[in-house]
Amino acid sequence: MTSIINTELKARKQHTCCLCGCPIEKGEQYIRQFQQEDRCTLKMHKDCFGLLSELSDQEDYEEGVSSEDFINRVDDYVNDNHYQEDGWNGSVYERVKMIVKELEEKKMNRSEAKELLPIIQAFAEGRAIELKDSYGKWVESDLLAFDLSPKNYRIKPEPKYRPFKDKEECWQEMLKHKPFGWIEDKEANEYFNVQCIASGDKAIDLYTRLLKRCVFIDGTPFGIKEE
Ligand SMILES: [Zn+2]
Repeated sequence: MTSIINTELKARKQHTCCLCGCPIEKGEQYIRQFQQEDRCTLKMHKDCFGLLSELSDQEDYEEGVSSEDFINRVDDYVNDNHYQEDGWNGSVYERVKMIVKELEEKKMNRSEAKELLPIIQAFAEGRAIELKDSYGKWVESDLLAFDLSPKNYRIKPEPKYRPFKDKEECWQEMLKHKPFGWIEDKEANEYFNVQCIASGDKAIDLYTRLLKRCVFIDGTPFGIKEE
Protein backbone atom coordinates (compact mmCIF):
# COMPACT_ATOMS: atom_id res chain seq x y z
CA MET A 1 0.00 0.00 0.00
CA THR A 2 1.22 3.44 -0.88
CA SER A 3 1.40 5.87 1.93
CA ILE A 4 0.87 9.48 0.99
CA ILE A 5 1.37 12.40 3.33
CA ASN A 6 -0.14 15.76 2.36
CA THR A 7 1.00 18.91 4.10
CA GLU A 8 -0.25 22.43 3.47
CA LEU A 9 2.57 24.96 3.32
CA LYS A 10 3.26 28.53 2.36
CA ALA A 11 5.67 28.83 -0.57
CA ARG A 12 8.98 30.39 0.50
CA LYS A 13 10.07 30.54 -3.12
CA GLN A 14 8.46 29.92 -6.46
CA HIS A 15 7.66 26.27 -7.28
CA THR A 16 6.01 24.59 -10.22
CA CYS A 17 2.68 22.86 -9.73
CA CYS A 18 3.02 19.22 -10.74
CA LEU A 19 -0.60 19.12 -11.89
CA CYS A 20 -1.29 22.25 -13.94
CA GLY A 21 2.35 23.03 -14.71
CA CYS A 22 1.93 26.69 -13.75
CA PRO A 23 4.04 28.47 -11.13
CA ILE A 24 3.14 28.40 -7.43
CA GLU A 25 4.01 31.96 -6.50
CA LYS A 26 6.08 32.86 -3.46
CA GLY A 27 3.79 33.37 -0.44
CA GLU A 28 0.98 31.23 -1.89
CA GLN A 29 -0.43 28.26 0.10
CA TYR A 30 0.29 24.96 -1.58
CA ILE A 31 0.12 21.24 -0.94
CA ARG A 32 3.30 19.24 -0.49
CA GLN A 33 2.66 15.59 -1.11
CA PHE A 34 5.16 13.01 0.10
CA GLN A 35 4.85 9.56 -1.41
CA GLN A 36 6.55 7.20 0.96
CA GLU A 37 6.98 4.29 -1.42
CA ASP A 38 8.83 6.21 -4.13
CA ARG A 39 10.28 8.64 -1.61
CA CYS A 40 9.30 11.48 -3.86
CA THR A 41 7.78 14.84 -3.11
CA LEU A 42 5.20 16.60 -5.26
CA LYS A 43 4.11 20.20 -4.98
CA MET A 44 0.76 21.46 -6.19
CA HIS A 45 -1.63 24.39 -5.95
CA LYS A 46 -4.23 23.97 -3.25
CA ASP A 47 -7.00 24.43 -5.83
CA CYS A 48 -5.44 21.94 -8.23
CA PHE A 49 -5.18 19.40 -5.43
CA GLY A 50 -8.82 20.01 -4.44
CA LEU A 51 -10.04 19.82 -8.02
CA LEU A 52 -8.14 16.60 -8.65
CA SER A 53 -10.30 14.74 -6.17
CA GLU A 54 -13.47 16.39 -7.53
CA LEU A 55 -12.75 15.42 -11.12
CA SER A 56 -11.32 11.95 -10.54
CA ASP A 57 -12.89 8.65 -9.78
CA GLN A 58 -11.67 7.33 -6.49
CA GLU A 59 -9.83 4.52 -8.27
CA ASP A 60 -7.82 6.75 -10.62
CA TYR A 61 -7.06 9.05 -7.81
CA GLU A 62 -5.35 6.41 -5.73
CA GLU A 63 -3.29 5.21 -8.64
CA GLY A 64 -1.98 8.70 -9.18
CA VAL A 65 -2.83 11.11 -11.94
CA SER A 66 -0.27 12.52 -14.32
CA SER A 67 -0.12 16.19 -15.15
CA GLU A 68 -1.28 15.31 -18.65
CA ASP A 69 -4.36 13.50 -17.29
CA PHE A 70 -5.13 16.40 -15.02
CA ILE A 71 -4.89 18.99 -17.79
CA ASN A 72 -7.06 16.79 -20.02
CA ARG A 73 -9.70 16.64 -17.31
CA VAL A 74 -9.65 20.41 -16.90
CA ASP A 75 -10.00 20.78 -20.70
CA ASP A 76 -12.86 18.27 -20.75
CA TYR A 77 -14.67 20.15 -18.03
CA VAL A 78 -14.29 23.46 -19.87
CA ASN A 79 -15.37 21.92 -23.19
CA ASP A 80 -18.39 20.28 -21.59
CA ASN A 81 -19.54 23.29 -19.64
CA HIS A 82 -18.09 26.42 -21.25
CA TYR A 83 -17.33 25.57 -24.85
CA GLN A 84 -15.87 28.61 -26.65
CA GLU A 85 -16.98 30.95 -23.87
CA ASP A 86 -15.09 34.16 -23.25
CA GLY A 87 -12.89 34.18 -20.20
CA TRP A 88 -12.25 30.44 -20.20
CA ASN A 89 -9.07 30.59 -22.27
CA GLY A 90 -6.50 31.58 -19.63
CA SER A 91 -3.69 29.42 -18.26
CA VAL A 92 -4.53 25.98 -16.88
CA TYR A 93 -4.27 27.33 -13.33
CA GLU A 94 -6.64 30.24 -14.16
CA ARG A 95 -9.18 27.72 -15.45
CA VAL A 96 -8.69 25.51 -12.39
CA LYS A 97 -9.52 28.45 -10.11
CA MET A 98 -12.63 29.26 -12.17
CA ILE A 99 -13.82 25.65 -12.04
CA VAL A 100 -13.27 25.42 -8.27
CA LYS A 101 -15.30 28.62 -7.81
CA GLU A 102 -18.07 27.33 -10.05
CA LEU A 103 -18.28 23.97 -8.25
CA GLU A 104 -18.50 25.76 -4.91
CA GLU A 105 -21.35 27.92 -6.20
CA LYS A 106 -23.18 24.83 -7.43
CA LYS A 107 -22.86 23.24 -4.01
CA MET A 108 -24.14 26.47 -2.49
CA ASN A 109 -27.18 26.46 -4.80
CA ARG A 110 -28.05 22.96 -3.75
CA SER A 111 -27.89 23.75 -0.06
CA GLU A 112 -29.99 26.90 -0.63
CA ALA A 113 -32.56 24.85 -2.53
CA LYS A 114 -32.73 22.48 0.43
CA GLU A 115 -33.41 25.40 2.76
CA LEU A 116 -36.09 26.77 0.45
CA LEU A 117 -37.83 23.45 0.00
CA PRO A 118 -40.13 23.55 3.08
CA ILE A 119 -41.17 27.11 2.18
CA ILE A 120 -41.98 26.18 -1.42
CA GLN A 121 -43.85 23.14 -0.14
CA ALA A 122 -45.94 25.31 2.20
CA PHE A 123 -46.59 27.78 -0.63
CA ALA A 124 -47.82 24.95 -2.87
CA GLU A 125 -50.16 23.85 -0.09
CA GLY A 126 -51.71 27.31 -0.01
CA ARG A 127 -50.11 28.69 3.12
CA ALA A 128 -49.17 32.37 3.34
CA ILE A 129 -45.54 33.16 2.57
CA GLU A 130 -43.80 36.36 3.51
CA LEU A 131 -40.98 38.07 1.69
CA LYS A 132 -38.52 40.45 3.31
CA ASP A 133 -38.76 43.86 1.65
CA SER A 134 -35.84 46.25 1.16
CA TYR A 135 -36.48 47.77 4.61
CA GLY A 136 -36.22 44.35 6.29
CA LYS A 137 -39.97 44.15 6.91
CA TRP A 138 -41.90 40.91 6.28
CA VAL A 139 -44.60 41.35 3.67
CA GLU A 140 -47.05 38.68 2.57
CA SER A 141 -46.84 37.94 -1.13
CA ASP A 142 -48.16 35.38 -3.57
CA LEU A 143 -46.02 36.53 -6.47
CA LEU A 144 -42.94 34.54 -5.62
CA ALA A 145 -40.11 33.51 -7.91
CA PHE A 146 -37.96 32.02 -5.10
CA ASP A 147 -34.87 33.44 -6.78
CA LEU A 148 -33.48 35.20 -3.70
CA SER A 149 -31.45 33.79 -0.84
CA PRO A 150 -33.56 31.57 1.49
CA LYS A 151 -33.24 34.05 4.36
CA ASN A 152 -35.60 36.39 2.45
CA TYR A 153 -38.56 34.02 2.73
CA ARG A 154 -40.55 32.58 5.58
CA ILE A 155 -43.84 30.86 6.21
CA LYS A 156 -46.11 33.50 7.71
CA PRO A 157 -46.13 32.85 11.46
CA GLU A 158 -49.53 31.95 12.92
CA PRO A 159 -50.81 34.71 15.21
CA LYS A 160 -50.48 33.77 18.87
CA TYR A 161 -53.34 34.08 21.34
CA ARG A 162 -53.32 34.31 25.13
CA PRO A 163 -56.25 33.81 27.50
CA PHE A 164 -58.28 36.80 28.62
CA LYS A 165 -56.85 38.30 31.79
CA ASP A 166 -60.19 39.41 33.30
CA LYS A 167 -63.91 39.79 32.64
CA GLU A 168 -63.49 43.26 31.15
CA GLU A 169 -61.06 42.09 28.50
CA CYS A 170 -63.29 39.14 27.70
CA TRP A 171 -66.37 41.36 27.41
CA GLN A 172 -64.64 43.87 25.13
CA GLU A 173 -63.46 41.11 22.81
CA MET A 174 -66.87 39.45 22.77
CA LEU A 175 -68.44 42.70 21.59
CA LYS A 176 -66.33 42.44 18.40
CA HIS A 177 -67.75 39.08 17.31
CA LYS A 178 -71.14 38.10 15.94
CA PRO A 179 -73.52 36.60 16.85
CA PHE A 180 -72.85 38.05 20.23
CA GLY A 181 -72.29 35.60 23.05
CA TRP A 182 -72.07 32.44 20.95
CA ILE A 183 -68.91 30.36 20.82
CA GLU A 184 -67.97 26.97 19.48
CA ASP A 185 -66.51 24.21 21.60
CA LYS A 186 -64.36 22.42 19.04
CA GLU A 187 -63.63 19.43 21.23
CA ALA A 188 -67.30 18.71 21.90
CA ASN A 189 -68.32 19.96 18.45
CA GLU A 190 -71.01 22.18 20.01
CA TYR A 191 -72.11 25.77 19.91
CA PHE A 192 -73.02 27.36 23.17
CA ASN A 193 -74.06 30.70 24.50
CA VAL A 194 -71.89 32.34 27.14
CA GLN A 195 -74.14 32.98 30.12
CA CYS A 196 -71.66 34.17 32.67
CA ILE A 197 -68.38 36.01 32.39
CA ALA A 198 -66.25 34.98 35.28
CA SER A 199 -63.89 37.15 37.26
CA GLY A 200 -61.34 36.55 39.98
CA ASP A 201 -58.51 34.01 40.24
CA LYS A 202 -60.55 31.04 39.06
CA ALA A 203 -61.46 32.91 35.88
CA ILE A 204 -57.88 32.82 34.55
CA ASP A 205 -57.96 29.05 34.69
CA LEU A 206 -61.33 29.00 32.96
CA TYR A 207 -60.18 31.41 30.22
CA THR A 208 -57.10 29.24 29.65
CA ARG A 209 -59.25 26.14 29.16
CA LEU A 210 -61.70 28.01 26.94
CA LEU A 211 -58.88 29.29 24.70
CA LYS A 212 -57.64 25.73 24.25
CA ARG A 213 -60.93 24.39 22.95
CA CYS A 214 -63.18 27.28 21.92
CA VAL A 215 -63.45 29.76 19.08
CA PHE A 216 -65.88 32.52 18.27
CA ILE A 217 -68.38 31.56 15.57
CA ASP A 218 -66.24 33.47 13.03
CA GLY A 219 -63.36 31.08 13.80
CA THR A 220 -61.21 33.46 15.89
CA PRO A 221 -59.73 31.81 18.99
CA PHE A 222 -61.48 32.75 22.23
CA GLY A 223 -58.64 34.93 23.56
CA ILE A 224 -56.51 37.99 22.87
CA LYS A 225 -54.24 38.15 19.85
CA GLU A 226 -50.68 38.93 20.81
CA GLU A 227 -48.80 41.32 18.52
ZN1 LIG B 1 -1.70 23.96 -10.23
